[in-house]
Amino acid sequence: MFRRILIANRGEIALRIIRACRELGVEAVCVYSTADKDAPYLKLADRAICIGPPPARESYINIPKIIAAAEIADVDAIHPGYGFLSERADFAQICRDCKIEFIGPSPEAMAKLGDKVECKRTAKAAKVPIFPGSEGAIEDEEEAVKVASEIGYPVIIKASAGGGGRGMKVCHNEATLRTNLRIASQEALAAFGNGAVFIEKFLEHARHVEVQCLGDKHGHAIHLFERDCSTQRRHQKLIEEAPGPLIDRKRRDATCEAAARLIKAAEYSGAATVEFLMDGKQNFYMLEVNTRVQVEHPVTEMITGVDIVKMSILVAAGEPLPYKQKDIEIRGHAMECRINAEDPDKNFMPCAGRITTFEPPGGPGVRLDSHVVTGYTVPPNYDSMIGKLIVHADDREQCMNRMARALREFNVGPIKTTIPLHQRLMENADFRKGGVDIHYLERLLK
Ligand code: ADP
Repeated sequence: MFRRILIANRGEIALRIIRACRELGVEAVCVYSTADKDAPYLKLADRAICIGPPPARESYINIPKIIAAAEIADVDAIHPGYGFLSERADFAQICRDCKIEFIGPSPEAMAKLGDKVECKRTAKAAKVPIFPGSEGAIEDEEEAVKVASEIGYPVIIKASAGGGGRGMKVCHNEATLRTNLRIASQEALAAFGNGAVFIEKFLEHARHVEVQCLGDKHGHAIHLFERDCSTQRRHQKLIEEAPGPLIDRKRRDATCEAAARLIKAAEYSGAATVEFLMDGKQNFYMLEVNTRVQVEHPVTEMITGVDIVKMSILVAAGEPLPYKQKDIEIRGHAMECRINAEDPDKNFMPCAGRITTFEPPGGPGVRLDSHVVTGYTVPPNYDSMIGKLIVHADDREQCMNRMARALREFNVGPIKTTIPLHQRLMENADFRKGGVDIHYLERLLK
């Protein structure tokens, strides 16, 4: 096992990784920007090293500074968390060159699954259901028009190197496809340094269902079942739950097994999520693979009892996964509400500032993953998530009742948060029925 790990992240996920390190008996070294210098979780680390000013490019995503901190602290490994450097194959390669273990997949596996065209190709070979569309990148306009007429409009143009919901264009007919193709490719080149684009069928009413997987360096890969993350706004997830409601057992198993096959085929080690869209007939189509631990990993931890962050560290250290697929079972239902410092009544405007009231909920089945304490100041420089409220219960109905109860106990002020919106959703008849699509929340907020 590692002696000492550097955590190249901040906020709740830095704290989550510190907790995993502590339980494994591994020392945790945090890095921080001056915007986070008073963050309380830094005191829980064995050491904290300042790496620069608030802008992420001068601190949290500045590779030379992160590597320098790792060398000063003499760590064996770096955990990237999510966001920042977590999906940068070049960073994973630099860690390897510096003889520091990157806690995540190899740069090769990351590049293979991180590129959408490559990923689709690997998925197809592993018999993972994918969207009908172009085989690989589009070489010329006529080919795109031909593919689109075969699969039928609407289609979506995507950048192979795209991410964060950027670089996608929906086209309803041939004329818009022709004009958008040129624009999309130029935009992709400017934004991602890679102009490759592809097209696939656009699904109008879909749910977002994703499968949590784990792989090790000995060729084993398992899945930890699925999460439904359909409650989103501008592609940002707000509520996640596991298992996905109203999905029949056969479809679920087939999709989860396919996801694990893909991870195995990519010789992937660490935590990965295979994302799918699911249509009204429970057909699944793969969207992409996230090659890192995700924000919403706790709901899966609650229903399976597997500590995903600890597993990511164990497998990076070369240990075999201590689970076989048949050991993994779904127990009850879990839900997560993202608590963001945003004002839902003012178009989700971020509300940075000092938190003078912070009264967290408690009681049976309640978990709060948050780095916030009374007196904490939310810096304006990073994303606005201040915590995740996760609850677990025997079934979905009791889970929502428990969530409503916990949200009622949760008192944060004077800054605005997404708590009132979550309260509204826990009472909403459509949400309570389960199975709302990815545009439901935006329709509700209109
Ligand atoms: P990114 O890597 O930029 O997040 P994704 O491929 O994960 O891109 O897609 C982001 C979002 O765009 C999805 O969650 C979904 O809402 C929408 N989307 C992507 N592909 C399709 C599709 N084929 N049909 C319908 N919606 C899609």
